[in-house]
Parts: sequence; structure tokens; C-alpha cells
Amino acid sequence: MTPITPLEFVSCLSPAMAPAGGGLVLARGKTGMFVVDMHCHALSRRADALIRREHKGAFPNPMAHAAPETRRVAKAQAARVEPDLTDLNRRLAVMDRMAVDIQVLSPSPTHYYTWTEAGLGRDACRLLNDDIAAMAASNPKRFAAMGTVPLQDTPMAVAELRRCVKDLGMRGVEINSDVEGEELSSPRLEPFFAAAEELGTLVFLHPTGFHHERFNQHYFGNVLGNPLNSSIAVAHLIFDGTLDRHPGLKLCVAHGGGYLAAYHARMDHAHGAREDCCMRISRKPSEYLKQLYFDTMVFDPQELGYLVRRYGAEKILLGTDFPFDMGEDDPVGLVLAVPGLSEQQRAGICGLNAARLLGIEVPRKN
Ligand SMILES: [Zn+2]
Repeated sequence: MTPITPLEFVSCLSPAMAPAGGGLVLARGKTGMFVVDMHCHALSRRADALIRREHKGAFPNPMAHAAPETRRVAKAQAARVEPDLTDLNRRLAVMDRMAVDIQVLSPSPTHYYTWTEAGLGRDACRLLNDDIAAMAASNPKRFAAMGTVPLQDTPMAVAELRRCVKDLGMRGVEINSDVEGEELSSPRLEPFFAAAEELGTLVFLHPTGFHHERFNQHYFGNVLGNPLNSSIAVAHLIFDGTLDRHPGLKLCVAHGGGYLAAYHARMDHAHGAREDCCMRISRKPSEYLKQLYFDTMVFDPQELGYLVRRYGAEKILLGTDFPFDMGEDDPVGLVLAVPGLSEQQRAGICGLNAARLLGIEVPRKN
């Protein structure tokens, strides 16, 4: 096992999240609810350094074709948040302002190393997972952790999944919406989903945008591309039968499940109308969506309310996408603004669902 060295991680704050500004009115404990943020990110500089040192060949650049103004915004933000990158106390201060009791740290999506050689990808994942686990262990009352796995090699991915759960005490693993263009429903990846199902651990499907020239302007690669890419991935998991074969798989789809969670009937129509859309599954496609979990990252109480009504409050988990500027800076306020929720539903969405799903102990009230 790779030794754990002093933790290095990145926590960058968007302006709205910065303690010096923002309009947050909630404070930790004020709502009386136990709040778990299951969608937020951390970064390991050791893993990135290993990749920079050892990777042979070109490095992917998702911003390569983005509009100049998009590249400028990204660069300016990176410079602005640099002082906050390693300040654990500042991170905790933001959590307090958001009324978040526990962050479940998952890797920054820049940490998917599926584009490099498998052995190097595995080694980078191990460093990364060690670092994020160490960060959580430094303050277990405020942090828990998820890892990631080298999906370009299935046996390595399964081995690292087991290490994350069994050795590092992680609560799940975060994966991209594809493996360098290969669908998650590929038969090659069956052992990974079987292992996750057997372990009962969460798989957090978190995309990294959609890169095509029609998405170059207006940050569309993320704004439209993230929910689109999740939708494509989940559609494959449904139509190719992955979710049919793994009914016990705990799969959470980021950003409210992408577009598919809110627009399912077209799939069902196709399944009934065309023989090429029902070759591998017998149930309606939308039935499989009910197996999934979704985070609250939709920015609108009405849209969040739709997810709750359709899939059940117990399937919805609070998230912030901290520390990125596409994040939600008042996650509890968003849940409280959803019309018609009971206190029990609010408490579940804000933290108790995640606690139950991820094995997080809920502190007793004094
Ligand atoms: Zn995210």
C-alpha cells in the first residue's frame, strides 16, 4: 500500500462560496437538520505530479477548443482561488456557512486518469485515493471520502474499488460517464458493476462535459454537456441491460441525473414502438431510472420538486459541486424552497438519505 504522506488537496472557492462575501443566510445547526454534502470535490497534487512526471505522450486538454472568453474565465478563476487551495480551515468555514455538517469528498473530475497507460492510471488512483482518505480521516466528524478507479483496466479497477472500500473506508467511487469514448455498459466492465453491487458501495456517475465544436461557445461543454453526457451514459446502462442485470447496484447520477431523469417518456415510447429499442430489456426504460439516486444540483426548486415527486424523496441526495463555480452555494435553502415537502422528506434529502446510503453515523442531538 502506498504510504500516506502529509495531505495535499485543492479546495477552490467560487466568489459566492467565499467567507468574505455571498448572501447565505443559513448557518450550521440553524435548521436543526443533519446535513451531508455528497457532491463536492478534492484534489491530490501527488497524483497529478506522478502523471505529469510519468505519462508518455500528449495530455488531454478539454479547454483546447473552448471559446477564448471561456478559457479566460477558467484561467482567472484558477488564479483567484489559488490562496484557498490548501486551506482546510477555510473549507470548514464555508461548510459552516452552508450549514453542511459533513462533506463526502470525491476526486476532482480532472482526476480521471483513464486516458493514460493502465499501470500508471492505477498508481495515480492509489495516490489520489490515499490522499482523499487521509483528508477525511483528519477530521472524521466533518469529512468522509469517495475514491476513483482506473476503468481502462477492469481487473485493476475492481482491485482498487475493493481497496477503497475495504482498506481505506471510502463510501463509494466516482466514475466518468464513459471510458475514453467506451460506454459504461461495455461487457468488459460487467465485473466492475458486479463488484460494486456485491460490496453495496455507491457508484457516483459524474461526467466531464461534452467536447464537440457545437459546444465551444458559452461554456456549453459543461453547461449543456455535463447533463447530456450523463444522459447518454445512463441510456446505455438502461438499453444495454446493465441496470437490468444489477438491480442492487447503488448508482447516483450527478447534476440531478442529467436530462434523462426529467425526460423519460420518449425512451419508453421508442421501447414500445421499435424492435431495435427493446432488444436487451423487457421493462420500460423509465423503470430503470427508479433504481437510481440523484443529487440536488439542478438550481431550481420546481425542478428539484419534480425529481422528488417522480423518484421519491429517499432517492435524492444533497450536493453542492463545491468548490467549482457551477456549484450551489445555498444547498439547504434550495431544498427548503421546494414546495410541499414534509419535514421528514427535507431531513432525508439534506442528510439522512446520504447517511443511510453511505454508512455515515448521524450524531445524537444534545
Ligand atoms: Zn462535481
